[in-house]
Formats: sequence, C-alpha cells, structure tokens
Amino acid sequence: MLFKDIIGQEKIKNKLIQTVRDNRVSHAQLFLGPEGSGKFALAIAYAQYICCTKKQNQDACGACPSCVKFNNLAHPDLHFIFPVNTTKDHKDKVQSKDLIKNWREFILENNYFPALNTWYEKIGIENKQGIINKHDGNEIIKTLGYKSYESEYKIMIIWMVEKIYHAVAPKILKILEEPPDKTLFILIAENQDQIINTILSRTQIIKIPKLDEKSILKATIKITNCTEKDAKNAANIANGNLITSLKYIQQSESDKFNFESFRKWMRLCFKDNIIEINTFINDMAKKNREELKSFLAYASKVTRNCLLMNYGDASLVKLNDEERTFVNDFSPFINSANARQFTEAFNNAYLYIERNAFPSIVLMDLSLKSIRLLKLKAVDSFV
Ligand SMILES: [Zn+2]
Repeated sequence: MLFKDIIGQEKIKNKLIQTVRDNRVSHAQLFLGPEGSGKFALAIAYAQYICCTKKQNQDACGACPSCVKFNNLAHPDLHFIFPVNTTKDHKDKVQSKDLIKNWREFILENNYFPALNTWYEKIGIENKQGIINKHDGNEIIKTLGYKSYESEYKIMIIWMVEKIYHAVAPKILKILEEPPDKTLFILIAENQDQIINTILSRTQIIKIPKLDEKSILKATIKITNCTEKDAKNAANIANGNLITSLKYIQQSESDKFNFESFRKWMRLCFKDNIIEINTFINDMAKKNREELKSFLAYASKVTRNCLLMNYGDASLVKLNDEERTFVNDFSPFINSANARQFTEAFNNAYLYIERNAFPSIVLMDLSLKSIRLLKLKAVDSFV
C-alpha cells in the first residue's frame, strides 16, 4: 500500500510522512478512527514507507524487495495481531498466526478496509466474539524479542485493540512502554472508551476522521466500477464509511441480479420450457452458496409481496419501479391455492442449499414444482 493510493486523509498522510523524514517515529502509536475511515490502509502505507529501502520524499518506492513483500503483507518484520476465536479448523489454543493466511486474503479482498463482522464471517467463528488472547500476548513478547530479519524496524500491528482480553494487558504493558530498539507498535481501534486505560495511556493517539463524501464517491467508482449515479447514492448513505458504501453497491448489484433471474425463471416455468430452464439452472448452479441463498430468499420475498398485493395491504409492498411492474404482472398467478406451497418450496430450497445439497437438483425440483403451481387456479371458499 503506497501513500499515493490512500483514499482521502491528506492531512494525516502528510503528518505521518513528516515523522519518518524527521526521524521522529514514536514507538507506540494508536490509529483511532471510525470504521471505514481507512486507518488500516494508513498503517500499512506508513509501515511500508518506514521499511522501504529506496524511500522517496513522499512515498515508498513500491518496487524494492521490501515493498514487494509488503504488497502481499508478507514481510518478515511485519507482524499482525487480531481478534480470533476457535473455528472449525482450529479448535484449540487458536492465535493470530494460525489464521495469518486467512488474514492476508481477507485484507486484500477488502481493499485494506477490514470490518470486524466481515472478519468473523471469513474465519467462521459463528456467534462467538473474537478476542486478542493470552497466546497472542505471549507471541507479541516473543516476536519482539528477536532481532529484525531484513528491515531496520520491526513492526507490530494490533488490529482492534478494544478486543485485548483484560488479563493480557498487564503482560504487554512493559514492552509497549519500553520496546526493544527500532520497534514500532501500530495499534488500531475504533472506540476509545473500550480500550483498556493502561494501554491507552502508553500510546500516542493519531485521530483519523471519517472520510469525506467526495473521496468515498471516487473510491467507490474505482473499486466497484459502478455508475456515478449509484456511487452518489452509496456515498450519500455511507456517512463517511467506505465499507458501507461498497456494501451498498454490492447489495444493489445482487438485488438487480436476483430480480432479473427470478423474472426470467418464472417466465420460463410459466411457458413450461424445460430446455431453457435447464440452461438457466446450469448458469445458476455456478453461483456460490451465499449467492444462491440470497436468490432464494429474494424469490420468497417476491412471493410474499404478491400475496400482499392480492390480499393484503399493497402499500406495504416496498419495491422499485421495475420490480413493481413485474409483481403486478406476476401476482395474479400467486393465489390462495398455491401461495403457501410456493413460499414453502423456496424456503425449503434455501435450507437444502445451506446444507450443501446439489444446486442443480434443488433448482430443477423447484422448477418442476413451480410449473405445476403456476397452473393452479384460486379456489373460492366453500362458504
Ligand atoms: Zn521500496
């Protein structure tokens, strides 16, 4: 990560560069700022600049052996500590270094903008909380006890310092206060109130403000390739959090895909066109499990909206114009004779996919059911 690629945050950037040029890098710094403000990216750019062997005036060179290793977050003198908990693959005594491969992947996938819940999803700790535990406390002391391998500095980045387990803090206070020579701690946090006081008091706080809307707009277009109009909406609701803006774009793209696919599928089922249905299923089966689940949840939602349109309060139907037109056309086919079976079929298919059933079998089964259900006419009650 080079400073030139940092989104916004000009002032902070210049301040950090200046500390390196003036040779007054303080040994324990706390990058404190809200989610999605870019503090992690800044920490990496800072560390990379410090370790670069061909430093330029305002940035790292990007090409020396040190910079190349930084590009993969795999420099031997760059260490990471982050919240963890037991996972399917790591059932006992888990610590940051056990998950370092997942961590590097996670950071690169998320454009150096990590979010805590996305990290927990990535490693699959389910409903447990991540913590920075005693094994990592020991690891910090052990790692910093060795000489650096290649660089003049050893850099220890601790992400989400709020998550340091209270019994771990006393262990690392001494090394935080008097680290070995040429050691740099970069602590990253979002909530000052949740940081253990003794740790907080041993750091120099660098406050990172939330990003301005213009920077978010530009970055959203650059990262997602979306239209300016979509990026404007996303940046507007993001409130300075780039992660929110990117999620919004991702969500609207997936909504659009789900809508178009569902409309196409139901039309094919209505026409009883098995050959085309088969092609459709083959394409859908290439999607990953989460995408399929989102598609089936969408199908269930549309069915519910059709019911509301027919029998309930149509004003409760929250859809965009294109979806509303479709639901208007489709709702006459969802009626008292088939609505429950439709909803049940979509919900069951969702559960099968979740439990790893073969997508093509589940979708073919659903298609055949839909063909049959679409032919059912509403029956009047016998009263
Ligand atoms: Zn370099």
